[in-house]
Amino acid sequence: MSDAFLLSERRAPDHLAFAHFPLDRAAHRRDDGAWLDAMFNAAGGGCFAICGDMVLVKAGEAPDALFRAGELPEGARERVFLGLDGEAARFCTVYDPDRAESLSAMAGLALLPLRQAAIERLMPSGRLSELAAGKALLHWHATHRFCAACGAGSEPAQAGWRRDCPACKAQHFPRTDPVVIMLAVRDGQCLLGRQARFPQGNYSCLAGFCEPGETIEDAVRREILEEAGIRTGRVRYLASQPWPFPASMMIGCLAEATSSVITRDETELEDVRWFSREEAQQLLSASHPQGLRSPASFAIARHILKAWAVGGAEF
Ligand SMILES: [Zn+2]
Repeated sequence: MSDAFLLSERRAPDHLAFAHFPLDRAAHRRDDGAWLDAMFNAAGGGCFAICGDMVLVKAGEAPDALFRAGELPEGARERVFLGLDGEAARFCTVYDPDRAESLSAMAGLALLPLRQAAIERLMPSGRLSELAAGKALLHWHATHRFCAACGAGSEPAQAGWRRDCPACKAQHFPRTDPVVIMLAVRDGQCLLGRQARFPQGNYSCLAGFCEPGETIEDAVRREILEEAGIRTGRVRYLASQPWPFPASMMIGCLAEATSSVITRDETELEDVRWFSREEAQQLLSASHPQGLRSPASFAIARHILKAWAVGGAEF
């Protein structure tokens, strides 16, 4: 069924944001500074720009985030090479967050929150994915300017995909934080929770960070037990989503619940409860009798719920 998505499928669901990176990463070119400079200045070259959680765009009916060399305002920091779109190179750069006011005041320019661009689908999915990669990578640079081994200032290398320490020669690589996000299911019911910060009436999959020394499936089972007191057995991977706020990897799973009595973690969750498959379908179609809703389609939580409630995904 087309609503179900599986590990074996080649493409992430259409509206799942940030999961359709379209470029050839061309990693073998990352240490060729002369080639990178030439590609940046070439006619087809283009560069995106991030400022905090926002994307610099040329103001207009459809926001255009791609700038030619020379079009970007002064004062950008690192420039990273994202990859090749055919023969054209794509880069991304960053402005310090305190530049936000002056950038958005410039004629013809605007700052667009990346999250809003994804929710409202203001850009094609490939473009959102390029921006997500650039944002996550540049956030890492902004927060890792010093060597974690000796404290000396480190320098970007490999077109932005590494930082090297000139003092102790340590090499540092960009981090991606794995997060498990999962739907526990049992006897035609699924387990959803809500945090106090969620929009009114919204319920979503439980989620949490993987810890060192932990498998994905152990993290799934631990998080469900910690947050809801529910024991789970089998775990099945469904799909993943890069999540650039700031640099997570959401790993979507189904988990087979083996107990049903909920003990809520009161610090994490405002509520957690079982929903029938019919109710889950009502959450997805915003027709639940209590006015409850599922997350929007830019988030993987909705696709996990849909895979089970509509697509019939099981173990
Ligand atoms: Zn060092």
